[in-house]
Amino acid sequence: MPRRTSAGPIIDVSFDADLCRHAAVCVRGMPEVFDVSRRPWIDPGQAATEDSTQALRRVVGRCPSGALDVVEPGTGRPASV
Ligand code: SF4
Repeated sequence: MPRRTSAGPIIDVSFDADLCRHAAVCVRGMPEVFDVSRRPWIDPGQAATEDSTQALRRVVGRCPSGALDVVEPGTGRPASV
């Protein structure tokens, strides 16, 4: 499955299901953004302030598999590139 990007008001989040190890770091870290009972399960729209965006960056950075990445809007590229 290709990497998919979910758009948010400040940053976007991309996800590659093939890499996900289901460690749930994301779900525990920011359940308002990562909710597996919802479709789509990733909603960066829940991080609409600078503080919540920084929290989202930290949670994405703790993803142990690299399945999650931050994408800066307009670039289409991961922020880490
Ligand atoms: S933190 Fe990363 S590896 Fe863990 S469930 Fe979320 S996306 Fe998958």
